[in-house]
Amino acid sequence: MKLSKYNLLVQSNDDDQYILFNTFNGNCMMISPNVAHAIEQNNLESLTKEDTELFTQTGVLIQNNVEEDKIYSYMHSREKHASTHLAATVLLTESCNLRCTYCFQGHDTPPMTMDVGQADRFISFLTSSAKINGSKHVSVLLFGGEPLVNIEIGFHILSKVKEFCEQNEMVFSSSIITNGTLLNENIINKLHEFNCKMIQVTLDGVKEIHDTRRMFANGKGSFDDTINALKLLKDNGKIHTVVRVNIDKTNLQDTYQLLEYLGRSGIDLTKFTVDFGIVRGETSACAGYSSKCLSESEIGGVLYDLWNLAEKQGFKYKIRPMRKTMYCGLYSNNQFTVAPNCDVYKCWEHVGQKEHLMGRIDDNGNLSNLTYAFYDWMSVDPLKNEECSECVYLPVCGGGCGVVSYNESGTYHSKGCFKIKGTVEKQVLKYVEDMTNANIDSQNNCTCEGGCGKSDS
Ligand code: SF4
Ligand code: SF4
Repeated sequence: MKLSKYNLLVQSNDDDQYILFNTFNGNCMMISPNVAHAIEQNNLESLTKEDTELFTQTGVLIQNNVEEDKIYSYMHSREKHASTHLAATVLLTESCNLRCTYCFQGHDTPPMTMDVGQADRFISFLTSSAKINGSKHVSVLLFGGEPLVNIEIGFHILSKVKEFCEQNEMVFSSSIITNGTLLNENIINKLHEFNCKMIQVTLDGVKEIHDTRRMFANGKGSFDDTINALKLLKDNGKIHTVVRVNIDKTNLQDTYQLLEYLGRSGIDLTKFTVDFGIVRGETSACAGYSSKCLSESEIGGVLYDLWNLAEKQGFKYKIRPMRKTMYCGLYSNNQFTVAPNCDVYKCWEHVGQKEHLMGRIDDNGNLSNLTYAFYDWMSVDPLKNEECSECVYLPVCGGGCGVVSYNESGTYHSKGCFKIKGTVEKQVLKYVEDMTNANIDSQNNCTCEGGCGKSDS
């Protein structure tokens, strides 16, 4: 027998114990410092018979002939080429009614907005791809700029794709990421008609802070309008709402205050999920912001404190480690981001950057002019990159974010560590604490939040 390469040791808050978490199969168990030491030293002879049996059953110890890389490689390829779920993010416009200080969508050229002809090309692309691939589920995420600035085109798209899915016995769903300031009852009800599963609205802190980071073009802060949107969503109650809180070094304390404010606000937070977005300062439009961003080693500790505080205030959500064979869905063959002019990219952070253009939807709705960037992105294999292939986090990371990799190394094929190292340990800790509190056997398999949180559809 030999040790799995995916055993992660996590120091528990109780100093006398370690948590042994196998990132490949999700098994967690409490172990003593002596056993942790034996594992660290690969000293299998010092393990008791009982430990050896338990570790064999839980995949901590595996047969000498087993190469975990081969199993991971199979799972990675299977997910990459799975065709059942076709997902597209469509940027209805690059325009926005806000002028956030950190927004990545700074442009040298005037902002584009999708018109009905471009929307029809997108619809045709999506529906023909769904047919060719034999998809069972088609989902559309409306994004911008601010998608509500051009929501009539959004509704045109949702209505046509929904009709197509109904005629072809496919599941249809939608979602939207919005600053919330233009939301009203009518829009919420219409989104609900289009099986909108999630609406994400962003808050950056209490009023004084949010208003200095997310303001309208005339300089007025957007906090009150965003809170009104949350109240509207809560009263309406039809669409699951995610409150996104963007965090960097400058608003950390304010984020604590924001959570406490929300706890006191009378809004029923059990209906909402909170998602802490880590602001990154690496895209061309916000490169000057990077000194204010949290480092990779700081993120886990910050999130752990925020998860606990959010829970105390009434938000309902579970932090659980989970296997990922790809860092985000955009590595799959069936996920795209489409710009208002029908240019196709993988990640929305790359929209407008020529070197990341993957192709274009032509007048017939075909994806044409595929570029080398498409093949380059789609051929990413974390096992071919030494750092990822030897990394204990690989099964809960998937090889990292292509945007981070490109920004750090000029290639999609390097490690793209983001919200993983140090964060997984905190997820494990939180998971075990929750399980212990709930008195549930901590040896059940687990699942986890991961990726950047944007494209896990
Ligand atoms: S991206 Fe980083 S954390 Fe993820 S597998 Fe690669 S080296 Fe490990
Ligand atoms: S993880 Fe996020 S930023 Fe990275 S490629 Fe996926 S969607 Fe883009």
